[in-house]
Amino acid sequence: MKAIVVGGGIGGLAAAVSLRRVGWEVVVHERAAAFGEIGAGVGVMPNALRALEWMGVADEVRRLGTPRVSGGVRAVDGRWLVHLPDVGQEKVIAMHRADLHGVLLRALPSEILFTDTEVTSADDLDADLVVAADGINSRLRAELLPDAPGPVYAGATAWRGVAPGPCDLPLSQTLGPGGEAGVLPLGDGRVCWYVATVAPAQADLDPVSLFAGWHDPLPELIASTADVIRHDIYQLPLLPTFVKGRVALLGDAAHAMTPYLGQGACMALEDAVTLASVDGDLARYDAVRRPRTRSVWKGSLMAGRFGIEVRSPIALALRNFAFRALPSSLAVRGMTRFTAWEVPAMPR
Ligand SMILES: Cc1cc2nc3c(=O)[nH]c(=O)nc-3n(C[C@H](O)[C@H](O)[C@H](O)COP(=O)(O)OP(=O)(O)OC[C@H]3O[C@@H](n4cnc5c(N)ncnc54)[C@H](O)[C@@H]3O)c2cc1C
Repeated sequence: MKAIVVGGGIGGLAAAVSLRRVGWEVVVHERAAAFGEIGAGVGVMPNALRALEWMGVADEVRRLGTPRVSGGVRAVDGRWLVHLPDVGQEKVIAMHRADLHGVLLRALPSEILFTDTEVTSADDLDADLVVAADGINSRLRAELLPDAPGPVYAGATAWRGVAPGPCDLPLSQTLGPGGEAGVLPLGDGRVCWYVATVAPAQADLDPVSLFAGWHDPLPELIASTADVIRHDIYQLPLLPTFVKGRVALLGDAAHAMTPYLGQGACMALEDAVTLASVDGDLARYDAVRRPRTRSVWKGSLMAGRFGIEVRSPIALALRNFAFRALPSSLAVRGMTRFTAWEVPAMPR
């Protein structure tokens, strides 16, 4: 059985690794001139690590990343709103996105990887299975589901980067009025950070001045980053199906979500393993993946409602009070609600 994977991001490469593992012949077509990922961090959540384990690359991921427990959620002045205990939490692997992408790339033979090949139609592809992993603006999705709405602006813009910084910083999220920030220390003297603010798309904003009053070391991390990456945040309205004929949508092409749970790439890894597990039964893939990703997509939307979108001083004070009152066991349970996924046991 032959599969063609369109798109060589984390989702496409994970699909290629997973399908090869169950005996498929696979080629990957990437439209860019080289395979690569942007310079920012990714938190490999426990659910994603289980998918990588199934793919046989988790040891390499653990070697290149740093296992961390989440410190919790902070206020703009640095005080903890939710301070999570070190015990009872599963670890998140903090790593550079390029390293995660590199692990997947090295798990594939170079002769199946093609760059500079933009795929514009699934009809042209001679394969038993086509995996559309061509990102949020997927051309294949537009061809297969012409009536489905495209990506919608989620009302916020984000900046991301990697800067020199202390190794002992806690992995944390900070919530302020109409904004949020996160730090993901890599443990090697580099800290991945992101900040986001509620704003119109393409607003002309400077993150250095926007986040100047936030707790240390956020202002310094932003100011000392050579290459700051800017993204307006878009999400894809829920699709009626992830499959059509022999084509399966995967990753952001199927369910691009807001980044507030840090689960977008993790979902693409889950998709990949599930697609391989069902061994060509695309109806089953659709039946398993749509409810799961819908729940995380909605969870991320809610995390935004109670996080970045809270702006008025009264709402902010109420939200912060509720967070402080939350028992840590409940906070940990709130996190594991999304990360407790296991590789589905499917008949081969
Ligand atoms: C600000 C922000 C922060 C985030 N933080 C996190 C996080 O901490 N954790 C997390 O899990 N996720 C996070 N995400 C989400 C994550 O980045 C995405 O969900 C993930 O990268 C999607 O991977 P993908 O392979 O599906 O798509 P992409 O990474 O978009 O890859 C698509 C690939 O397909 C190629 N391509 C496109 N069209 C064609 C074509 N026609 N022919 C051939 N190739 C094509 C592209 O060049 C690209 O290489 C974040 C996203 C944002 C915006």
